Amino acid sequence: MHPCPYCGSDEVSVEETEIGGYVAACPCCGMAGPEAPYATIAVRRWNVLCSKMCRNCKYHLLMVVKDLRRQLHELESGNDDVELGRVDDA
Ligand SMILES: [Zn+2]
Repeated sequence: MHPCPYCGSDEVSVEETEIGGYVAACPCCGMAGPEAPYATIAVRRWNVLCSKMCRNCKYHLLMVVKDLRRQLHELESGNDDVELGRVDDA
């Protein structure tokens, strides 16, 4: 789970809301992510929110590296779906 983009706390946890939904919330600064009907979705929405907010944080960079590795792997295995400046012989 992504650390809090405001205060950097790792103690973000999922809490149940008064109307039976779930939110990921930071106990340190009080920031909360979007509400969701299930805890797993609340976590996913929190991660999406955070990755948009802190583009330079370690977590985001790890995701970028992971994505680049995946693309590299696809290139090496000859997958034509990857568009990374592929050169066609016309
Ligand atoms: Zn926080």
